[in-house]
Amino acid sequence: MSAPASPRPAGDGAVPPTLSVVVPMFDEAEVLPLFVERVRGVLDGLGEPYEVVAVDDGSRDTTPVLLQAARRTWPQLRVLRLRANAGHQAALSAGLVAARGDWVVTLDADLQDPPEVVPEMLRAARDQDVDVVYGVRTDRSSDSVFKRSTARVYYALMRALGAGGAPDDAGDYRLMSRATVEAVNALPEDHRVLRLVVPALGFPATTVGYVRAERAAGTSKYPLARMLRLTVDSVTGFSAAPLRLATWFGLVGFLVALGLLGYALVAKLGGQTVAGWTSTVVIVAGFSALQLLSLGVMGEYVGRIYATLQRRPSYYVAYDSLAEPADEPLGR
Ligand code: UDP
Ligand code: MG
Repeated sequence: MSAPASPRPAGDGAVPPTLSVVVPMFDEAEVLPLFVERVRGVLDGLGEPYEVVAVDDGSRDTTPVLLQAARRTWPQLRVLRLRANAGHQAALSAGLVAARGDWVVTLDADLQDPPEVVPEMLRAARDQDVDVVYGVRTDRSSDSVFKRSTARVYYALMRALGAGGAPDDAGDYRLMSRATVEAVNALPEDHRVLRLVVPALGFPATTVGYVRAERAAGTSKYPLARMLRLTVDSVTGFSAAPLRLATWFGLVGFLVALGLLGYALVAKLGGQTVAGWTSTVVIVAGFSALQLLSLGVMGEYVGRIYATLQRRPSYYVAYDSLAEPADEPLGR
């Protein structure tokens, strides 16, 4: 179950890490010095071989430069640069493929997920002999009211659609065994939302609570448009319910239309057929909107099928420092 001995790429020839910490980074130059200090402090104290896989998700600021500089004094830091911004979930996926550890933790760069919890997660996994340890935010008071309320709606929606399995407020701070990571990597689906995919795999799991801190520096890389994208990917990735909803709309609409037909016939026979402009407008506008909505919903699923059939990777790795000597300039 846990701690399997699967073959790992030899890479640098160093001791294969017990623990990989995967960190997606998009324009995180402001927080990077703090990140290096905090995370290194915790992981060095672990007394086990580890690697930090920093996935530079096509940053446009000085993140790549700072990462290269940090590598000079921190050999466990490994840099994976994506050719273009692929998004948080794709960057996480890239890191999971690259990670070599028996255990893999995914962590945000902005220190909202306190790295001090990592040893606790590792201990929990070993003591309780489980494959997955979810970091659960017990206190989100540092998040904005907007973020908290949208999160509540998101988790309620996912639960209603039956995509549950993980505790609410378990974001992407989690520890996974090698077996879990291999299972995630083997999934062919595109646009996968890891916080839903991982529980669906059904590995034994436990949770560790933590207090969500404020972003240590810099600004959020998750504007509303990206949050909506994550929600659409979450819904379409886990449920065909919206498609069925269109069927129900159609059925109800059909019944209403039948009723209207009866009414129209009676009105015609009674010779009073001029009135009814308002109802016509309402019906035409209402049903046009519903039709467009249904088409849009179908479009989301068709888009997903299309993306999966294309088999185009959701990210491209431009550079992996594992393949280069420590003081090599960034190869782009
Ligand atoms: N991130 C990324 N690619 C993106 C957007 C975000 O790799 O396109 C990273 C970001 O650098 C951070 C993590 O994903 O490490 C979470 O993003 P952020 O903290 O901005 O989200 P929030 O906490 O505001 O939801
Ligand atoms: Mg954050």
